[in-house]
Amino acid sequence: MTLMHQDRPLDHIVVDPSTEPYWAGTRSGVLKLRRCTACGEPHWYPRPVCPFCQGDTEWVDAAGGGTIYSVSVTRRAGPIPYAIAYVTLDEGVTVLSNIVDCDLDALRIGQRVKVCFKPAEGGQMLPMFTPA
Ligand SMILES: [Zn+2]
Repeated sequence: MTLMHQDRPLDHIVVDPSTEPYWAGTRSGVLKLRRCTACGEPHWYPRPVCPFCQGDTEWVDAAGGGTIYSVSVTRRAGPIPYAIAYVTLDEGVTVLSNIVDCDLDALRIGQRVKVCFKPAEGGQMLPMFTPA
């Protein structure tokens, strides 16, 4: 059986000043990460202080590619099944997201994916991933 993503309704997103650059990025099709200006390590989720060395951090653009670290298909949360996955970006950070626009039953750990953006309630764009 082939199941396709059906554009499940996505909750409204609250944007505050500290995350506004992130959402400005998603609106223009760019996934942004925070990277430490002292040790150079990127991290997820975005934080103002480096979780590794307490250094200052800055916004950087992720290239948008990654691999599936783990994936699970949810069929009981509502009428539309969807895939929740941890995706390890090529920058080395792992993000919790959804895999969309694909055959959910064909998703595999280690599979290459790329970022895409889906509209949420209120007009923000949410980063998700689709097979590369
Ligand atoms: Zn650091």
